[in-house]
Amino acid sequence: MQRIALDQSVFKLSPWNDPVAQASPGDTICFETYDCYSNQITQENQVLPFSGWDRVNPATGPLYVQGARPGDILRVEIMDIILDSQGVMRVGPGSGALGHVLTERKTKFIPIKDGKAIFNERLELKLNPMIGVIGTAPKGEEISTGTPGAHGGNMDCKRIGKGSVVYLPVHVPGALLAMGDVHALMGDGEVIVCGMEIAAQIQVKVDVLQNLWLPLPMVVSGSDLITIASEATLDKAAVTASQMMLVFLQQALGMDAQEAGMLLSLMGNLHICQIVDPLMTVRMEFPLWILEAYGYRMN
Ligand code: CA
Ligand code: CA
Repeated sequence: MQRIALDQSVFKLSPWNDPVAQASPGDTICFETYDCYSNQITQENQVLPFSGWDRVNPATGPLYVQGARPGDILRVEIMDIILDSQGVMRVGPGSGALGHVLTERKTKFIPIKDGKAIFNERLELKLNPMIGVIGTAPKGEEISTGTPGAHGGNMDCKRIGKGSVVYLPVHVPGALLAMGDVHALMGDGEVIVCGMEIAAQIQVKVDVLQNLWLPLPMVVSGSDLITIASEATLDKAAVTASQMMLVFLQQALGMDAQEAGMLLSLMGNLHICQIVDPLMTVRMEFPLWILEAYGYRMN
């Protein structure tokens, strides 16, 4: 399996990044990833400045996928996420939604033992390894790996884990896929602006889909189809994620908008991904079995 080393990383997803590796459709590639602090934290009492959005979340890559052309869709199947042996968290002034009350700084290592996060002597937490940052080159602009958007990026969607499939837009030849910011565990919202940050090895299978329209970014995870939207406010992101799914239901199932809206209001579930990045991210989850009942199958 081809591997991309963790120091082959970028802080911006950009059409002007030079690819560090190439793959063909159907290939499986291993992205070695730093934690979001570039593996710089070695001691809990270490004094590190809280860096701006341009210096967190190194993303390994970008990978050039042969045959991917603007207008295509990049299909990224997460085959495995192999975690390092411990994660790290930090809080302090400016820590996301709670920075105004968490005024004392603290850094905490969280070791992993027997597949559980050892939070303290009392608490062992079940892991949910997920990818915080995964995206392709945006169209005509570069975007910090701290920011989510239509190209993917820092979506912090906890449903992007092992076995899920992420659909991303192709804006430039080769798509230029990059990823990082793995969390061993994170709650919806990511309220203090970090999950259990951890270095990892992500194995993905890449494919190129042509002549297909999907509202992007889109994810298949477990028994759900998921649309993801990032906007200036949670309210806007909720509307956009809903509308993306509405349009998809109309297109995929041939429903009129009213019928699709009713079904979405009955069976769709909105969830917050994160409320702490430069844009807010919301996802709409919809059961795959309903698509299958109409004979629609995701590629
Ligand atoms: Ca993140
Ligand atoms: Ca993170």
